[in-house]
Amino acid sequence: MTINPSGWRPERALAANDENEGGGTFTGNRALMLEEKLIFEIGDSKSCGVDFDDVPEVASRLGGLERSAPIGLPGLSEPETVRHYTRLSRQNYAIDLGLFPLGSCTMKHNPRLNERMARLPGFADVHPLQPAETVQGAYELIHVLGQWLIKLTGMNSVAMSPKAGAHGELCGLLAIRSALEARGDARKVVLVPESAHGTNPATAAFCGYSVETIPATKAGRVDRAALEGRLAPDVAAVMITNPNTCGLFEREMVEICEAVHAAGALVYCDGANFNAIVGRVRPGDLGIDAMHINLHKTFSTPHGGGGPGAGPVVFSAALSPFAPLPFVEKTGDTYILVEEETADEDHSRSFGRMAAFHGQMGMFTRAASYMMSHGADGLRQVAEDAVLNANYILRQLEDVLDAPFGESGPCMHEALFSDEGLAEGLSTMDIAKGLIDEGFHPMTMYFPLVVHGAMLIEPTETESKASLDQFIGALRSVAERARAGDLSLKAAPFYAPRRRLDETAAARKPILTWRDATPAE
Ligand SMILES: *Cc1c(COP(=O)(O)O)cnc(C)c1O
Repeated sequence: MTINPSGWRPERALAANDENEGGGTFTGNRALMLEEKLIFEIGDSKSCGVDFDDVPEVASRLGGLERSAPIGLPGLSEPETVRHYTRLSRQNYAIDLGLFPLGSCTMKHNPRLNERMARLPGFADVHPLQPAETVQGAYELIHVLGQWLIKLTGMNSVAMSPKAGAHGELCGLLAIRSALEARGDARKVVLVPESAHGTNPATAAFCGYSVETIPATKAGRVDRAALEGRLAPDVAAVMITNPNTCGLFEREMVEICEAVHAAGALVYCDGANFNAIVGRVRPGDLGIDAMHINLHKTFSTPHGGGGPGAGPVVFSAALSPFAPLPFVEKTGDTYILVEEETADEDHSRSFGRMAAFHGQMGMFTRAASYMMSHGADGLRQVAEDAVLNANYILRQLEDVLDAPFGESGPCMHEALFSDEGLAEGLSTMDIAKGLIDEGFHPMTMYFPLVVHGAMLIEPTETESKASLDQFIGALRSVAERARAGDLSLKAAPFYAPRRRLDETAAARKPILTWRDATPAE
């Protein structure tokens, strides 16, 4: 290895790796990084981890439907099971371990105060079918949170039940579709700019619309002339991500909304990145008709691997009557759950329901706790610090990584780089793998598509300058190696539990079921 700008010693790790995938040790462990087999390989269905008395013989009452062969679950004891999952968890990266730079995901710290509030029995132990008078506090919390969202966005009403950002998009488009159908105007096309999040065209297609793409300008924003040129009586809606996935604020929203409305269409705003503008911009003032908010991004509730999320949607006055049921309302001192359409103009034409019940109480409690502990001025500072941190990363790294929109002015909450300037044979993928050896989860790669070999980095406001500097130092070191042509990067990661995997095969042909490979006796 000739090029070594950072003091990196690939030969040592290589040696350790090459002797044995686990590093040349008896166990396969590498120091305190413990190897772990599949649970089916550790235990088998013939043993049981618990000492049960023999089951007495009883007559079967299953009418001949009893299982004929064992189910095949591995029998492990409690400590074996605990160790298995704890070992696996150590092979993963988490926001509680370090900076998580995934762009467009807002992986920020989840304050422990929120967790404390969510565990209060009055919030944690309620059931959605409890009589209203026994859950007034929970209803009040949902109502207060909704009012904050309405206030912060300058919109007219809110639907709390959608379970994620993409589910919120569906909710918004269903309301738009109902509004258009109500005026007998079944339009068929949704326009989506190139700089939009991938869920936008997916949602529009799911709703039965045909999707047309609007190009981006060289500066990374919606090409307004192209958008306005396409507006016609067949266009139902425009979906715009703002701030967009190039990390830029769409500056011409007011003009765009006016043009879209003049053409009889509606504007959906993907507000997943609201954390960049909360307290500074009210989307309602820009003319937006519907927008989802990701509580798991802007308002710091945990991202669970597909677990309980919340993507409330705020609506303009024009769309409010079509919003989904149910919702919480305050009458006098009492909170009620409105489950049916009412004659009241605001709730007269609901398109239906997004979910069986009212949404994710645990997420609502955490988000409300986050908002109240920050206050209005604190939330404004969230946006300012998120933007400041992203710009710090952008400016600290633009001499070693190409920043395609570096000239377009400050970025918002995320910094975007391309693979231009990397040495022959080295790519964005190699930078990402090198970053794993430095102890960081990679940034978002190859997205947005408008930039070649994109690297999208979102530090969020919860990182200190010291942690930003450490991340910048790590990425700078990897980027310098990639510019200088250090081909050892092609074999990175050296220190991860696994090296390079066939990611395409893993995605296209995932093996999701364990089969016993040992031949039957
Ligand atoms: C995260 C994100 C979404 C999707 O949100 P989910 O909660 O993951 O469904 C949509 N748009 C943008 C811009 C996002 O960043």
